[in-house]
Amino acid sequence: MAGGGNAIRGSRVGAGPMGEAERGEAAPRQAITYFCSNTHRSVVTFSVEATVPESWDCPKCGLPASVDSENPPPAPKIEPYKTHLAYVKERRSDKEAADILDEALQLLRSRRKSGDLIF
Ligand SMILES: [Zn+2]
Repeated sequence: MAGGGNAIRGSRVGAGPMGEAERGEAAPRQAITYFCSNTHRSVVTFSVEATVPESWDCPKCGLPASVDSENPPPAPKIEPYKTHLAYVKERRSDKEAADILDEALQLLRSRRKSGDLIF
């Protein structure tokens, strides 16, 4: 820990130009309008130093939106998202899954009864 004190003091006091930029006080901003295929218009504000992305997820409907109002990106095909539970259900029958859940609950209850505090 030799010299550690200096390092800590330096990071605390070091609210220099970097810190101001992070709070958005000094950095100039630019407003970019994105258009999605649902004709939503979303204005997103970026720092002028930031690289403006060509597409942005529409905050209203979640579809991809682009800066080109004439050519909004097409809505992507919705792929059914498989949760971990879905995979588990595929591998096991519902009865088995219920048994496993029951077993887990009983284990949980027995732990609580015994007074063990397991978090
Ligand atoms: Zn939209």
